[in-house]
Amino acid sequence: MILQLFVGYMGIALGGNMKIILKDGNVIEIEKPISAFELAKSISEGLAKAAVACKIDGKLCAMSDIVDSDCNFEVLTFADEEGRKVYRHTCSHILAQAIKNIFPTAKLAIGPAIENGFYYDIDFKTPITFEDLERIEKEMKAIIKAKYPIERFELSRKDALKLMSEFDEPYKLELINELPDDAVISFYKQGDFTDLCAGPHLHNTGMIKAFKLTSLTGAYWRGNEKNKMLSRIYGTCFDKKSDLQDYLTQMEEAKKRDHNKIGRELGYFMTDENIGQGLPLLMPKGAKTIQVLQRFVEDTEAKQGYMLTKTPYMAKRELYQISGHWDHYQDGMFIMGDANDPKAEVFALRPMTCPFQYTIYNNGLKSYRDLPCRYGETSTLFRNESSGEMHGLIRLRQFTISEGHLVCTPEQLEEEFKKCVELAKYMLTAVGLQDDISYRFSKYDPKDTEKYIQDADTWNSAEETMGKILDHLGIKYSIGIGEAAFYGPKLDIQIKNVWGKEDTLITIQVDMFLAENFDMSYIDENGDKKRPYIIHRTSIGCYERTLALVLEKFAGAMPLWLAPTQVKVLSLTDRTAENARDYAEKLNAAGIRVEVDNRSETIGYKIRSARMEKVPYIVVIGDKEAESGNVSVKRRGEENSNIMSEDEFVLQVLREVKELKLF
Ligand SMILES: [Zn+2]
Ligand SMILES: [Zn+2]
Repeated sequence: MILQLFVGYMGIALGGNMKIILKDGNVIEIEKPISAFELAKSISEGLAKAAVACKIDGKLCAMSDIVDSDCNFEVLTFADEEGRKVYRHTCSHILAQAIKNIFPTAKLAIGPAIENGFYYDIDFKTPITFEDLERIEKEMKAIIKAKYPIERFELSRKDALKLMSEFDEPYKLELINELPDDAVISFYKQGDFTDLCAGPHLHNTGMIKAFKLTSLTGAYWRGNEKNKMLSRIYGTCFDKKSDLQDYLTQMEEAKKRDHNKIGRELGYFMTDENIGQGLPLLMPKGAKTIQVLQRFVEDTEAKQGYMLTKTPYMAKRELYQISGHWDHYQDGMFIMGDANDPKAEVFALRPMTCPFQYTIYNNGLKSYRDLPCRYGETSTLFRNESSGEMHGLIRLRQFTISEGHLVCTPEQLEEEFKKCVELAKYMLTAVGLQDDISYRFSKYDPKDTEKYIQDADTWNSAEETMGKILDHLGIKYSIGIGEAAFYGPKLDIQIKNVWGKEDTLITIQVDMFLAENFDMSYIDENGDKKRPYIIHRTSIGCYERTLALVLEKFAGAMPLWLAPTQVKVLSLTDRTAENARDYAEKLNAAGIRVEVDNRSETIGYKIRSARMEKVPYIVVIGDKEAESGNVSVKRRGEENSNIMSEDEFVLQVLREVKELKLF
């Protein structure tokens, strides 16, 4: 600060003629155009050293860009999100250069920075393997060591096309051809490598302090399955070696918990190419856990006055035309029939259950005495997400959700909303995710005329009403503009997966449009016809997603009450095989999920294999136990065994299940 003020004073004293306004409001003056780097240096040597990019009048620029007029100036370091992006994107150019050095025939596609790193999509003549990454890393290190200055230059469209034809880069040619007529076409050169790019970048390859190539996957050019499959190389980089190391350790830990890995290994789910992306098959374990959870949700909702419905998986387009899905959500739906033919009978798989439950509500006149009307359904839904979005059990094209709609009077809205939040909290606590969530108040974006029903007054009133309810509930939330549903604002309960990617788990929404569209009404105390309010909500959200998050939370050690197999009974020797079978039958009759291992293997082997499956309880029956009517019990995570009576153990398990114990 002192230094900046001093420089500011010096600038004025020198009678400079360009005013540079710094982020903290201080003004410095410069006499002649200088690079952003020189400018930063005049503020502080340390700042210039840490600078990775800058903002000139709000525009992201490189430190090599020239400052030649009055402007607002802000230096970005690796600590700034935008700075990190520039840093990491620069590393993707170094990756591309290394690849061209080793594989001159490789064709470059795109190489953006992403959250936590960067990637580059490459078309290799012969696809490379993970082992090749080491060789590429070595070459990248040499490029960093060479400290090539990174220089920008512009070309006319004609010259740009000529250059990329000479380089034989078909993807770059395609990109140039798609640029608008007035686009500035820029290139960046480092050493003898040149790449088409809008920039900005670091100004020297030597500035990358620590990097690592992390994975190699396939990716369709432009994410379109009709295009060629390219090789995508992922990497990350940091400005400190220790930060890279911390990040890699964290990722190792995440890998051990990733449901997409352990969920498959433990036999919860699988996928199949012929079935399609985003369409997982729940195997017996996954199906069992979801059944247990679903029964729990349905029973809890019934106690809270929800009425169960079961409605069709599809409907004619006319239904979605009334609800607004046809106009605002068509891209997200699977449509059957020729949607371009207005006379054809066209169906669509349901993306939401709202229109179906509203149709039930409208069956017969409703009075204020019928409200609140709470409908619940275990709904299977279908959403046409793009294939790039798919992830394990988290992003799917078909999923099942604890969906529900509450139709109420305006006076009942707050109380009902509150109950929905409480129910959601109860469910989250039951599955052990209560401490991992955050709340988001998702509002509409008035500029997005395609997504949202256009009616500013209704939107404002809905958001105001919901804002008041949230404040009364004392919920701390962030605000997400443009995250609302097309028909109303939402309270989203957000959760991050093991890779740090955030998704919505549970949502509670106030809807002020669809009651109108469906002409829903009730007769009030005075005999007048009124419009009800609607709350859309889920109590546990998508079952598949919940399963994924619980698997990650407990690293596959499914809590007892949700575990597909709760107890594994092992015979110590062949002599006690029958005793083991009998006891398992007893447990099964008591409603405990049990498996028997009567293989002629050593007990050590059988215990190890039950532990690999992460079964909560292992029971061993040997001659001594068989004689005395006792069992030897090993609890998951504990080394020692407990000897207890057969009945005592049954009661213990039943008690812990009833208490929803999270062990
Ligand atoms: Zn670039
Ligand atoms: Zn709904």
